[in-house]
Amino acid sequence: MYIYDLTLEKLIDYFLKHDEKKFYATELFKWLYEENKRLTDFDLATNLKKEIREKLKEDFTISTIEIVNKESAPDVLKYLFRLNDCEHIEAVLMKHDYGNSLCISSQVGCNMGCKFCESGRRKKVRNLRVGEMVEQILLVEQESGLKISHIVIMGIGEPFDNYDNICDFIKIINHPKGLNIGARHITVSTCGLVPKILEFSDFPYQVNLAISLHAPTDALRKTIMPIAKVYSLKDLMNSLDIYYKKTKRRITFEYILLDNVNDSEKDALALAKLLKGKNAYVNLIPYNETSTLQFKRSNPLKIARFYDILKKNNITVTIRREFGGTISAACGQLRSKKEEV
Ligand code: SAH
Repeated sequence: MYIYDLTLEKLIDYFLKHDEKKFYATELFKWLYEENKRLTDFDLATNLKKEIREKLKEDFTISTIEIVNKESAPDVLKYLFRLNDCEHIEAVLMKHDYGNSLCISSQVGCNMGCKFCESGRRKKVRNLRVGEMVEQILLVEQESGLKISHIVIMGIGEPFDNYDNICDFIKIINHPKGLNIGARHITVSTCGLVPKILEFSDFPYQVNLAISLHAPTDALRKTIMPIAKVYSLKDLMNSLDIYYKKTKRRITFEYILLDNVNDSEKDALALAKLLKGKNAYVNLIPYNETSTLQFKRSNPLKIARFYDILKKNNITVTIRREFGGTISAACGQLRSKKEEV
């Protein structure tokens, strides 16, 4: 077993199962996550009995991933990790004025097949374990010496295609004795897996939900996002209405502007109509061009016009600040370069 896979509840179950006190689970959790502890060897947990440490050593592996490459640009650090089966994933650290945000991967490869996305060029190989997601944060904090205050699950993979692990991951990083990252500082981004959005509406943590929308009509969405053939916009918006009713949390809509694909005035008006009356926040994303895909980014004038139309129609909208274009920080690009697929 892998120690970083376990939420505190699961760690408690482990100790109870071995007729040990619950208290040891909390202590061990602190040894794993408190800033000045972060143990690399169970023997360092000096307030645990020797026999417990021996048992832990028998049952658990601690560290399983390592940083194999790092690139930097102003305010951004991009990390490539090797997993213990030699697969690679990546994470990007962005320094904002409000704190340090880490964009983490949730799967090796991705099955969603969005036409504009580098990650989807490689089919899903496997889900990341909970601990492999936790370790991305631990290793980046250790390597950079920076405290991560915000997490976005927007790296390689579709988080809702790895739903149970994402939920445990959130429990660990949000726990006051874990990494203590506030739920409102955690964002899960999905291309719109409707059944999981519904399930997530009952997940009792105040995390943010972001939807990769990228098109205001089914016809257009189907041409760039295969998931639109499975769930119509009507189904998607209905599930989000339910999510909003239950959670009362504003939903973010991500919209990449792709030159001559989805960036016309007509598209902006259709988007405004689709989101009218909803507590929506639109994040317009200047496309990060990749050398392998044919899409181009919209020019700044078109981006500005798109933004204005949404604003005029009373939609809350921002244009995403760009990080790391020069170091291929867009989703999936670093792994792609490394493995040359
Ligand atoms: N699968 C999830 C999370 C990973 S993708 C999702 O679809 O939301 C995270 C975000 O990056 C998505 O909005 C995705 O559409 C966007 N994205 C992918 N490639 C991009 C690129 N080259 N430039 C800008 N945004 C990109």
